[in-house]
Amino acid sequence: MGKLVEIRVPDLEGIDDASINEIFAAVGSVVERGDNLVAIETEKTVIEIPSPCNGIVQEIIADVGDNIAEEQLLLKIKTDEIVESSEQPQIENQSHEDLVTQIVVLGSGPGGYSAAFRAADLGKKVILVERDNTLGGVCLNVGCIPSKALLHAAKIVSEAKEMQQFGLNFSSLKLDNGALRTWKNKVVGKLTVGLNSLAKKRNVKVIQGYGKFVSSNQITVTTPSNTTFCIDFEHAIIAAGSEPVTIPDFPNKDSRVQTSTEALEITNIPNRLLVVGGGIIGLEMATVYHAFGSKVTIVEFEDSLIPGADQDLVKPLHERIAKLYENIYLSTKVTSIESTLNGMYVKFDGDIPKKKDLYDQVLIAVGRKPNGKLINADKAGIAVNEQGFISTNKQMRTNVSNIFAVGDIAGQPMLAHKATHEGKVAAEVIAGMNSYFNSELIPSVAYTDPEIAWVGLTEQRAKELNINYDKGIFPWAASGRALSIERKEGFTKTLYDSETKKIIGVGIVGTNAGELISEAALAIQMGCTYKEIGALIHPHPTLSETIGLSAEVVDKTVVDIYVK
Ligand code: NAD
Repeated sequence: MGKLVEIRVPDLEGIDDASINEIFAAVGSVVERGDNLVAIETEKTVIEIPSPCNGIVQEIIADVGDNIAEEQLLLKIKTDEIVESSEQPQIENQSHEDLVTQIVVLGSGPGGYSAAFRAADLGKKVILVERDNTLGGVCLNVGCIPSKALLHAAKIVSEAKEMQQFGLNFSSLKLDNGALRTWKNKVVGKLTVGLNSLAKKRNVKVIQGYGKFVSSNQITVTTPSNTTFCIDFEHAIIAAGSEPVTIPDFPNKDSRVQTSTEALEITNIPNRLLVVGGGIIGLEMATVYHAFGSKVTIVEFEDSLIPGADQDLVKPLHERIAKLYENIYLSTKVTSIESTLNGMYVKFDGDIPKKKDLYDQVLIAVGRKPNGKLINADKAGIAVNEQGFISTNKQMRTNVSNIFAVGDIAGQPMLAHKATHEGKVAAEVIAGMNSYFNSELIPSVAYTDPEIAWVGLTEQRAKELNINYDKGIFPWAASGRALSIERKEGFTKTLYDSETKKIIGVGIVGTNAGELISEAALAIQMGCTYKEIGALIHPHPTLSETIGLSAEVVDKTVVDIYVK
């Protein structure tokens, strides 16, 4: 049996209040076409959902009592049968007729759906074309959201372990990968289904299919059932994203060589895991697999982890994981990976003691590449660079005046929150507004343990730009809150222009750095000085206090530490 059929909540005809009344199947049950799988209760009636095929229930995502929305994923059935798409709800409105619209958006990740929804709210007729059968793109389906769910689980495991020395003892971890995966999929499902309903409410027509340009006013869309039709548009917004870089010489078809997409499925927890790439994805996935029991080795080509970040911020993370992981190899390249019965045989080129080693699984996290070369952009006259990026001006307009590009495909950094803002700018510009994207203030967060977050200028960048700056560092070892959660390795660093005294950059390493960085971003956006930041009363005891205290360090008014 090969294929997975997804069973989703059907059209509820406008009823908002619906919940799962009963689930008739269990994981592993054999079901026949027509067998009732789930009963849904609404204020008016009970709807039973029958199986569209003979098969075996592979995964149940919903629970009895759950509130549900239209098209929410309920369960998956493994089958050999061909299931008609009418029996298996797809994202929306499959249409095989040629269409005409004011705006077509290619791709439904954070950039694409934000652009589509904002444009619709501004009164435009919008068609959103998505290759996959759920909305949300990489971020929601196989990126930010599922990884954060797994990182949450990992944090619970590692904190429980750490508290053993302080008198909290739990029995050892029993990991049920299947149940954890189901929960993670449920989190994702809630968000992707939510997007469907938001699209519907705004009359955004969603079409599943692969879009490619024919000209600067027309795309073709090829649906999963292989029919192709055209959409004529006045404006297009390209939000077609990126995909993981793979290394062609590696045995990428072996299921033991994974990208983050497969690794997020946590189908098994390998004994020895090699992570190729010490960037954000590699380090986040290493955090997850280490907590679940893998012995992790990181191999990084450059001489530091997360090379783009200030290295003083990376140091506490490096020191912590150096104690926990098997190895961290810097300035080292993987020269070959060979599939063997016993595992993946990996050879390294670097100044490390063991030049070859055997791993049970390898994660390739060496960056992502934009999808600019996959959409026939040349047919519309859109310039795509060698790497696949489409360049735009600050209004997200490409070299073709009615076509815009946003998100990963429009350039670094490849971050969802950058895409969201770019998508809105593109929609607003098309609607006649004078909007611009400010690329100076994009926060970066590595959701590692400890987290690292920075915004504005890094010290590295301030030096390159010959900017004279003053620096305030507040060590978390002097923070009551950091000590009370047993995490004193962090620190908060704020940078100020020496002349104007205004804040120009912030870096934080420590628990919840990703949540703390927004205050800093706002301070930079508002042009605050260190006196203003120091004067702000932060609640005590919080980690957020360290932002004010680092400003006081520059102002020489700090009392919580002694500065000569
Ligand atoms: P990355 O570029 O951030 O890191 C990849 C790392 O792999 C680099 O340090 C690089 O030097 C190293 N590398 C490249 N080739 C190598 C080789 N052959 N051997 C060993 N090391 C090698 O890429 P990523 O971590 O894959 O992330 C991709 C993108 O997704 C980035 O833009 C990242 O910012 C974004 N992302 C962001 C988040 C977040 O915001 N939390 C999470 C995940 C991904």
